[in-house]
Amino acid sequence: MAINAPEGTYDMLPDRKLFWEQFKRAAQEVFGTYGYLPIETPVIERTELFVRGIGEATDVVSKEMYTAISGGNLAKLLNGEKLSSKSRLSLRPEGTAGTVRACVQHDLVPQGAPPAKLMYAGQMFRAERPQQGRQREFNQVGIECLGAEDPTIDAEGIIMLMRFFTSVGIPDDAMTLLVNSMGCEKCRPAYREAVLAHMRQHEEGLCDTCKERMKLNPLRAFDCKNEACAQIMDGAPKISDHLCDECAEHHAKVRGYLDLANVRYQEDPRLVRGLDYYTRTVFEVQVADSDKAQNAIGGGGRYDKLAEEIGGRPTPGFGFALGFERCADAIAKAGVELPTAQRCDLFVACVEDAARTDAFQLAQACRDAGLTCQMDHQHRSLKSQFKLADKLHARYVAVLGPDELAEGVANLRDMETHEEQRIALAEVPGALS
Ligand code: AMP
Repeated sequence: MAINAPEGTYDMLPDRKLFWEQFKRAAQEVFGTYGYLPIETPVIERTELFVRGIGEATDVVSKEMYTAISGGNLAKLLNGEKLSSKSRLSLRPEGTAGTVRACVQHDLVPQGAPPAKLMYAGQMFRAERPQQGRQREFNQVGIECLGAEDPTIDAEGIIMLMRFFTSVGIPDDAMTLLVNSMGCEKCRPAYREAVLAHMRQHEEGLCDTCKERMKLNPLRAFDCKNEACAQIMDGAPKISDHLCDECAEHHAKVRGYLDLANVRYQEDPRLVRGLDYYTRTVFEVQVADSDKAQNAIGGGGRYDKLAEEIGGRPTPGFGFALGFERCADAIAKAGVELPTAQRCDLFVACVEDAARTDAFQLAQACRDAGLTCQMDHQHRSLKSQFKLADKLHARYVAVLGPDELAEGVANLRDMETHEEQRIALAEVPGALS
């Protein structure tokens, strides 16, 4: 039996791959105008980075991480030996922890330096139950800004993300931007207690997962899709009533800057993002799609404690990630045409085999001139070569037959206008570039 790609993964075939490359370029263009520079960190990191950074109690770390144990270490493990924390590696489930780790490791934000503004793009891995919009391997583009606490950073990050979405063709009115503040280490503990007290009052009505969440991460119950839990959590205390003065002021300023930029948003006091590291601003962008549970195309927030959590000096941070596959779905739904796989300036067709060497040389000369050029490699009939040229969307076809060979010319056909002209072989590259 043939072996297919693992469930929840997919092959990026040329059309999709070209679109992904273009999507990344578009991101770099938009984010570049805000001073973001590219970074690439390893796909595998030490497991403890995610445990400490994202949080042990989060779904991502407790259930969804692919942790790799190399052959030698597996043998040790089976022998009952203990593995050092260095030998536990995990495929990254998200990009923030690795990027912040790189900033700490390379001291990218020395004392007094301007903020480090970084962007990344690549695969993430989560051992989830695969379904539409939820894969085990997927691609994210994200940014991280380390070293600035000012609400202008949060606001420009959100504005920049919305601009990017619009620039790739997701209609403004198809998107809903939700914003909230999750408070800080000063005001969140009391809020958490207040939510917990409310959950205790309604414990019998909660699902088993939410009962479990009460022990470690009660705020995650706001995300529960269970109808009864949703109703109970609707009556829970709101973070907006529990923010300390500094957090309330920060949040008001972020909203003020969004208003200044005419960015539409909804305040959502129940928005709690799945990862533990967020402080203050959190936000999510959703696309309206009633038949899909997975409607978030991107989101992020502020994480002022993460750098310390993984051993760096206190460094405020802000970041977001967007999901390429879900964006591609939203773009397709909006009817925006994705670029085609092939660009072909010239197809060189041979009428008979005697022309093959000249065709070969003409194709080389055209590529040297920067043209995209293909030729027949399968001894097809002329008719079939024209069909192929059509399929490749060739702009021109150069026909080399016995008459043309004798004269040292090609018969050049414009595939759009169907006009033909005879042109010296040596002049073809110049005429088309
Ligand atoms: P998160 O890192 O969970 O905040 O996710 C950021 C974005 O990545 C989401 O808004 C989605 O667009 C995308 N995403 C997250 N998980 C998955 C997944 N399992 N499959 C596909 N896209 C995902």
